[in-house]
Amino acid sequence: MNKKGLSEKEVLNLLNKAMQKDTSYEKVLSAMCTRPHPIAVKAHMQFIASNMGDFGLFSGTRELESKVIKMMGNLLGDPNACGYITTGGTESNIQALRTARNQSKKKHPNVIVPASAHFSFDKIADLLGIEIRKASLDSEFKVDMDSVNALLDDNTIALVGIAGSTEFGQVDPIDSLAEIALSNNLFLHVDAAFGGFVIPFLDKKYDFDFSVEGVTSITADPHKMGLSTIPAGGLLFREEACLLPLEIDTPYLTIRKQHSLAGTRSGAAAAAAYAVMTHLGMEGYRKLVHSCMKMTHRLVEGVREFGIEPLIEPVMNIVALDVPDLEEVRKELRQKGWITSITRTPRAMRLIIMPHMSEAALLMFISDFGECLRNTKK
Ligand code: PLP
Repeated sequence: MNKKGLSEKEVLNLLNKAMQKDTSYEKVLSAMCTRPHPIAVKAHMQFIASNMGDFGLFSGTRELESKVIKMMGNLLGDPNACGYITTGGTESNIQALRTARNQSKKKHPNVIVPASAHFSFDKIADLLGIEIRKASLDSEFKVDMDSVNALLDDNTIALVGIAGSTEFGQVDPIDSLAEIALSNNLFLHVDAAFGGFVIPFLDKKYDFDFSVEGVTSITADPHKMGLSTIPAGGLLFREEACLLPLEIDTPYLTIRKQHSLAGTRSGAAAAAAYAVMTHLGMEGYRKLVHSCMKMTHRLVEGVREFGIEPLIEPVMNIVALDVPDLEEVRKELRQKGWITSITRTPRAMRLIIMPHMSEAALLMFISDFGECLRNTKK
């Protein structure tokens, strides 16, 4: 640290310099986060000092958090769901499986996840001492039910289904997973970190949430397609009893118990999620998702003209393209400013059409993509 403090102007200059090195979202096709809605930013600033780690001091913010959970419960098939605003999908997934582990009391617990599961489940294996078993995927990148059944044994404590997989945007057959969960008395967690704010607004209906009997918990993140500020994840349980295995005594706070993983946690995130959800409403999110889906279909149409096919017809605003000379094409696109990413198996170009993408930028991407393809073929 510098010995003497700098002036505000000097500090702001330093911040501006640092910000210039950050990538602005315009040409980013790899991110699951986006620019937050302006009303979320306003609410975030207003509640910047609020700490949900000691919510006895911040009962107004706590009310907002409860309202967010209520709105999310309504969105995800159970108005009586309970939970809290986490730091993101990772914390929500950790906490859901921590509940499953603590409830089961098995000595060598295992959890079956699809091979498409987000890497947060590898962190969970390490943190919670749970064996994570990866079930294979079918030709459409949904979890293969035969594989799930084959991995099941007496030490299985939970199943995980993904509603909006990170790489393919695919939705697992949650109803089939629920049947197995119910008949084996297993915890069923649905990771809808991305899909939670997309699937309810698609034209096609999917059974993926608490409306499916047997679903125990859901991850759904306001800081992804919810357009809220970072860090705002959502963890919802069907039963209040699921929060009990997470509870810890907090003798020196204004509250007696805490069930979050983080201690001090952002009240600003809860206020921001409340603000944007209340402001957009169901109609606003529907429009947003429709616009992203329209651009997603336009993208697929555009690349098909170059003979490029998606691995699956896009379910949501995530596309995996089968591109020859993938790394070369990505490198060329990078030189034109476009940030793309990849899927693991099979290796394909992964593109996410987030609300920060404009139609003009998308058309420019399609044109640049065609040019890069032609250049790499030369
Ligand atoms: N689950 C899924 C399906 C995701 O796509 C992601 C992130 O992309 C996560 C969990 C982790 O979320 P976070 O980065 O907010 O911890």
